[in-house]
Amino acid sequence: MQNITVLGSTGSIGKSTLDVVARHPERFSVFALSANSSHESLFAQCVKFRPRHAVMLDPEAAEILSKRLLEAGIETEVDCGVRALEKIASHPDVHTVMAAIVGAAGMPPALAAARAGKRILLANKETLVMTGELFMTAVKEHDATILPIDSEHNAIFQALPQHYSGDPDSSGVRRILLTASGGPFRARDKATLANVTPEEACKHPNWSMGRKISVDSATMMNKGLEVIEAHWLFGADADRIRVVVHPESIIHSMVEYVDGSILAQLGNPDMRTPIAHALGYPERIESGVGSLDLFSVAKLHFEEPDFDRFPCLRLAFHALRAAGAAPTVLNAANEVAVQCFLEGKMRFTDIPVMIEAALEGIQAGRPDDFDAALEIDRQARLFAQNWLSGNS
Ligand code: NAD
Ligand code: MG
Repeated sequence: MQNITVLGSTGSIGKSTLDVVARHPERFSVFALSANSSHESLFAQCVKFRPRHAVMLDPEAAEILSKRLLEAGIETEVDCGVRALEKIASHPDVHTVMAAIVGAAGMPPALAAARAGKRILLANKETLVMTGELFMTAVKEHDATILPIDSEHNAIFQALPQHYSGDPDSSGVRRILLTASGGPFRARDKATLANVTPEEACKHPNWSMGRKISVDSATMMNKGLEVIEAHWLFGADADRIRVVVHPESIIHSMVEYVDGSILAQLGNPDMRTPIAHALGYPERIESGVGSLDLFSVAKLHFEEPDFDRFPCLRLAFHALRAAGAAPTVLNAANEVAVQCFLEGKMRFTDIPVMIEAALEGIQAGRPDDFDAALEIDRQARLFAQNWLSGNS
């Protein structure tokens, strides 16, 4: 029996994870669940999965949850705050941690899991963008395992040799072909992008996801973050990673080898496939996802990414090449920008403008430790807020 902690269990990835887990009661037992403040959803999940622990970031929400569970006669222990998240991610009884909190907030508990040598199912790409080198070092030092959940990275993982060394050359890997749907504005006229609404930006053509990643997909920053994620997961430098726009989202990514072979992973766009792959790894387990109907798909299309219409993608490649503090700044400024856009305080087209200003404005070196990375993150958020006050 595998004991699992799901960080961010009420979110899109969290729910899909529990959907897969529920299909295999003989294999998985839910040790802990967690959410930011949505106590209603977490209560319902506690009733269904009876975890030993439930953690809410928000203390008031935790109090409500605790009261309701007590009334319902459910023995789940409720706690709150970041330390409590770290505890359920590193508890000795936990085997597997699904890291599905959104944003930089997901880093501290993911790090706690790494330091405790856990098997980490990593959905929270922001951890790798913000602190890629430090996080991967912690994973190695503590003998933790990362299984990628992001559909592209999971596809790449599946297309790489089973015991991939982490060095593309020694495995005969020529390039990583990272597919991108292009998001809801793929074919939209650049001149109209300034006026798009949060609702339009969150309406993804193929995937149903949380609001932050939906906006990231609309700006294509999501693909930019994924380029950086691929760099850290697979040891590929920026020149070896090629973004391929593929509007159908059927091929989830590809690996090209030096002999000219390209291996791809295909499937319906449903996150339960990569989640089940990682949960069961190295075995294959049922995910609830149906067969891909190739005859109804019939055609697949591929396009070059448009760096002019989607400057966020260009900025992410730039940050990866610049290294140092740049990816941390990129991630933090993007989070502030997306939040402001969702709250109607910023235009869609100002998102990259603000991020670029932050990348130019913050003169910090490469973070030597996690505290230094958190300090850069704090500075970038402050810069972004000030930029907004000066430009609105
Ligand atoms: P979501 O917004 O649907 O869910 C986020 C979860 O995190 C919720 O349970 C929420 O309560 C919790 N949370 C939010 N802020 C928190 C905080 N400060 N502290 C503790 N918990 C907090 O997001 P999502 O779409 O499920 O995405 C989660 C992560 O997975 C993101 O990093 C995203 O980039 C990545 N991801 C998502 C998808 C997808 O299809 N949704 C695909 C690939 C990768
Ligand atoms: Mg993805």
